[in-house]
Amino acid sequence: MEEPRLILLPLGDPDPEVVRVIAARIETTLRVSVTIAAKEPLPPEAWFPDRKRWRADRILDHLAARPFAAARVAAVTDQPISTTKGVIRDWGIAGLGELPGRQCVFSTFLYRGLKRRDRATYLRYVGDLALHEIGHTLGLPHCDHSGCLMADAKGNALRSAAQSQGAYCARCARTLGRLRLRATDNRDW
Ligand SMILES: [Zn+2]
Ligand SMILES: [Zn+2]
Repeated sequence: MEEPRLILLPLGDPDPEVVRVIAARIETTLRVSVTIAAKEPLPPEAWFPDRKRWRADRILDHLAARPFAAARVAAVTDQPISTTKGVIRDWGIAGLGELPGRQCVFSTFLYRGLKRRDRATYLRYVGDLALHEIGHTLGLPHCDHSGCLMADAKGNALRSAAQSQGAYCARCARTLGRLRLRATDNRDW
């Protein structure tokens, strides 16, 4: 069977080296083939001028409307993103992924303070974030197991990232294995 494919799509101007590190982390953790697409501007319809940031839900709609030659599409941006959460109309987030679905988007923005100060930690955090959002697209919900990649950030992306063990917990890994075993074609994994 052909190896499942994921397209990593840079939106805006994320650091190309950071994008390459994220691609390698996805490949080794999920054993999929990752293609880095040419970078694109963020979709103008996602711009939210009141808060000067980008609506992640609109970005997902924008991606959903397009054909991609891959089972999954993960968009990575350096720009701040947000979505509606409960009664909060516009809530800043690190990432958003369909559960399950084809696409997710995540942003390096909330970790930007670490980029020069502690590059290793910065790269670990953005890699963890990518695997969290892609986990959602594969059908993994949030997990209560402390330190699991699928833990809910509960509004504090930095604290959550600091607590991450950098791996799916045993239960999430089993669920992921089951979901992928059940997948019958390249659309599912
Ligand atoms: Zn999540
Ligand atoms: Zn878990």
